[in-house]
Amino acid sequence: MTTSKRIRIAIQKSGRLSKESQQLLKLCGVKFNVNEQRLIAHADNMPLDLLRVRDDDIPGLVMDGVVDLGIVGENVLEEEQLEREALGKNAEVNKLRQLDFGACRLSLAVPNEVEYDGPQSLQNMRLATSYPNLLRRYMNQQGIAYRDCMLKGSVEVAPRAGLADGICDLVSTGATLEANGLYETDVIFRSMACLIQSNQTQDPAQQALINKLMSRINGVIRARE
Ligand code: ATP
Ligand code: ZN
Repeated sequence: MTTSKRIRIAIQKSGRLSKESQQLLKLCGVKFNVNEQRLIAHADNMPLDLLRVRDDDIPGLVMDGVVDLGIVGENVLEEEQLEREALGKNAEVNKLRQLDFGACRLSLAVPNEVEYDGPQSLQNMRLATSYPNLLRRYMNQQGIAYRDCMLKGSVEVAPRAGLADGICDLVSTGATLEANGLYETDVIFRSMACLIQSNQTQDPAQQALINKLMSRINGVIRARE
C-alpha cells in the first residue's frame, strides 16, 4: 500500500456528533461536500480527507493508525481503551482536546418502583448496557456484584421487557429515562466529544497541518465560549 500524504480524519457518519463535527471542520476553513452514499469526502482546499464511519469504529481506527485524527465521544473512547487493554491490544491515542459539544453522562438507572439507597441497592442486579467495560470498572470500584445484559440498542426498554433489573446508559436530559419509567441513581462517567490523534503520524508536513487545524479549532471554540 502506498502511503498517502493526505491526512485522514474519522467522524461519525450519522448521529448525534455528525453535524457538529462537520460544522467544526467547516468553521476551521476545511472545504468539503459530503455525499451521503460515500465513505470518504475529500477536502478541496487542503490535503485532508474525511472518513465517515460508525462512532464505535473511530477509536480503533485511530489507535491502529488507519486514520490520523478522529472526533468521538469520550465515553466511546474510554470504553474502547478498557476493552483493548483487557485484550492486551494497543490502546494508545493522543487526546488533543475536549470539544464543546456532545455532552452526556453514562448513568445507572432503575425502575421508579425500585428503592435506591446507595450503590449497594444494585447488588446482584442484571444491568443492561452497551458499555460493559465502563460499567465493570465502576461496579468493581464500588465492590458490587452484578450481572451483564449486553445490548447495542434499546437498552432503556430492557427493564420493562423483563430482560434486566436496571440499565447503564447515556443520558443527556433524562427525558428518555422518564419516558421509560426509570430514574437515575449513579453517574459513572461524564463525557464530551473529543479530538484524538494517532501516535503513528510521522510526516512533518502532516503534523504541521494537524497543528494548524488545532490552532483553528482552539480559535473557533474560544470564540463560542
Ligand atoms: P453510530 O451509528 O455511529 O454507532 P450511535 O447510535 O452509537 O451511532 P449516537 O446516539 O449518535 O450514537 O451518539 C453518539 C455520541 O453522542 C455518544 O456516544 C455520546 O458521546 C454523544 N451523546 C450526547 N448526548 C447523548 C445522548 N443523550 N444519548 C446518546 N449519546 C449522546
Ligand atoms: Zn455507536
